[in-house]
Amino acid sequence: EKLRETLLAHIHDVPDYPKPGVMFKDITPLLADAKAFGLLTDTFAELCERLGATKVVGLEARGFILGAPAAVRAGIGFIPVRKAGKLPGACLAQSYELEYGTAEIEMHADAVGPGDRVLVIDDVLATGGTAEAALQLIRRAGAEVAGVAVLMELGFLDGRRRLAEGLGDAPLEAL
Ligand code: 5GP
Repeated sequence: EKLRETLLAHIHDVPDYPKPGVMFKDITPLLADAKAFGLLTDTFAELCERLGATKVVGLEARGFILGAPAAVRAGIGFIPVRKAGKLPGACLAQSYELEYGTAEIEMHADAVGPGDRVLVIDDVLATGGTAEAALQLIRRAGAEVAGVAVLMELGFLDGRRRLAEGLGDAPLEAL
């Protein structure tokens, strides 16, 4: 409860951003507060340990900010999943459906593999499209999915249902 209260107190609702009708959840106040950011990092790191994760995958861009310190604290490696065309090495690519059109994300092909248990970290689960594509990348690389952990889940967009198949028995944790 204390965690939830602290996190909520540092997330700001910004109406009509990035376009009219959207209520954007701004996490920059949380990042700017050492106590709140530290509490969040500890919580994600404990989750890594509880789920037996061997790697954290962070989703561009806010998943990098939240996932990297958690991975360091848990003593495991961090893997960036990026928008197509940003990573220098040989990549696996996965495209996914947006409301209008498609998007594509990539991961270095040798970043995770058999024997790895991977926890995906991001700030917001909205439609679930990005996280679902990341789970496909992880499985295609031969690794196991330990779970998906997000700061916030926008429940009305039903991302949890979109992730059900990719998660299998692994949990979706929304703080
Ligand atoms: P999805 O693929 O689940 O529809 O979208 C999730 C992605 O969009 C996440 O990477 C997340 O950072 C971003 N996103 C969508 N809505 C919001 C929001 O209200 N606030 C923030 N901070 N990110 C959002």
